Amino acid sequence: MKELLHPDLEYVLYTKEEIARRVEVLGEMITQEYRGKELLCVGILKGAVVFYADLIRAIRCELATDFMAVSSYGASTQTSGTVRIVKDLNEDIAGRDVLIVEDILDTGLTLHYLRRLLMERNPASIRICTLFDKRERRAADIQADYVGFQIPDAFIVGYGLDYAEKYRNLPYVGILSSRVYAK
Ligand code: 5GP
Repeated sequence: MKELLHPDLEYVLYTKEEIARRVEVLGEMITQEYRGKELLCVGILKGAVVFYADLIRAIRCELATDFMAVSSYGASTQTSGTVRIVKDLNEDIAGRDVLIVEDILDTGLTLHYLRRLLMERNPASIRICTLFDKRERRAADIQADYVGFQIPDAFIVGYGLDYAEKYRNLPYVGILSSRVYAK
């Protein structure tokens, strides 16, 4: 069934079906890599929750789950440049293969900080899987090992991604109209 476009969006960038197909491919790649290892998938709250829930079901090897919450943009569309741990991991990651699951890699400041912090806890490895990557916006030296989609510099919402806590429940991803954040 065709979804009606939310009136605050300019257009749909990726449909529910396109996202589902890509998530399956990512799950397959991760399965190949981690078979027989001690995979711990770390979801970054809250934006990655929807992607995370679909991704772990597309990974066909044993895994454990955990979450971290970090401060992000708040109600603005610009990064503050400061990262604060709001919720830390419950699991001890020493000796484990950690896969950080993120919604979107933008300036990279958040993940650059997070990766450094987690490296200090002596994991066997840390890799990053992001659904979206705005490579041209990068300000920190970091890249993801698994990328769903490379996207241009525009503010997107849906499939877990919000603006001022709205739109996370849209099943597709779209470009937020500048009318909305200019208000
Ligand atoms: P970075 O530290 O890479 O600049 O920021 C990453 C975080 O910024 C993401 O986890 C996400 O919360 C937020 N972010 C960056 N770009 C977008 C976007 O286009 N849409 C939404 N909704 N959030 C974004």
